[in-house]
Amino acid sequence: ALFKHADQALYVAKDSGRNRYHYFTPELQAQARMRVRLTNDLRGAVERGEFRLVYQPIVELASGRILKAEALLRWQHPQLGLITPGEFIALAENSGQIVEIGEWVFRESAAQVQAWRRTLAPQFQLSINKSPLQFRAETGVHSLWVAQLEALGLPGSALAVEITEGLLLERHSPAGEQLAHLRRAGISIALDDFGTGYSSLSYLQRYELDELKIDRSFVSNLQPGSKDLALCKAIITMAHELGMRVVAEGVETAAQRDLLLEAGCDLGQGYWFARPMAAPALERLLENSIG
Ligand code: C2E
Ligand code: CA
Ligand code: CA
Ligand code: CA
Repeated sequence: ALFKHADQALYVAKDSGRNRYHYFTPELQAQARMRVRLTNDLRGAVERGEFRLVYQPIVELASGRILKAEALLRWQHPQLGLITPGEFIALAENSGQIVEIGEWVFRESAAQVQAWRRTLAPQFQLSINKSPLQFRAETGVHSLWVAQLEALGLPGSALAVEITEGLLLERHSPAGEQLAHLRRAGISIALDDFGTGYSSLSYLQRYELDELKIDRSFVSNLQPGSKDLALCKAIITMAHELGMRVVAEGVETAAQRDLLLEAGCDLGQGYWFARPMAAPALERLLENSIG
């Protein structure tokens, strides 16, 4: 789940290097060229101001109120137009540029949530996505984050950091200490894409986590009496027992929303509520929901 399409394409390309006759098609060649191009173009994209964030509301299921939002990265490429993270995050991870991009995401999100807390919703929280590779960088990065929040006069609770299960399973990862450092500063830690791909739950007892996000794959087939519903209920009960609140991802219908609410899920995110949107659109939504 950590690596999306771009990395799968990379795998195929590597494979094709070994079995050139069978797999090296013009289409793969074009894809390989595109990956090289995008990797080159990513260099300097932060300085050139080519990234922006869109924000997807996260809604309290019981009340319908927008309590927070997830910041999602977009790349406005000068020639190719808007590029979504599935097409460039894995490339940025492979080249190491994800660290610089991640720092930009942090700064931009902190500035944005500060503005919203001042004018619209004093308790508003923004969630940001963090690549496991950002935890391999210097530990000092996280002290800088805490210092930047202090400089802005923002409490840690204004931000949540979304991580994936893979990070918690890595051996000898400095992640545990870094997560604890962020958490001591009040920053929430959310476990993203829960339920995809890992069988061990032992990390749940080892780490302090605040929020669990049920992956869209469990939500999209929710029906009364379905196995997916049974799984969602079990995940929600377990998370609550462990002191976490639960967000359901990819809620696309009212029926899904109703089943999740009935199952005790706390928050929902998905096209049923709202798509990711630019900051001014979210501001209009927040203004209306406050009245
Ligand atoms: P994610 O963290 O699981 O984010 C949720 C993705 O699901 C977003 O795709 C969002 O637009 C999409 N989504 C939301 N609601 C629905 C729905 O109801 N139905 C469907 N079909 N999709 C929905 P997006 O923006 O393309 O992001 C894809 C992934 O890229 C994210 O998955 C996350 O893993 C990664 N990503 C996004 N922004 C960042 C970032 O700033 N840093 C890093 N490291 N990764 C990021
Ligand atoms: Ca996420
Ligand atoms: Ca997710
Ligand atoms: Ca996902």
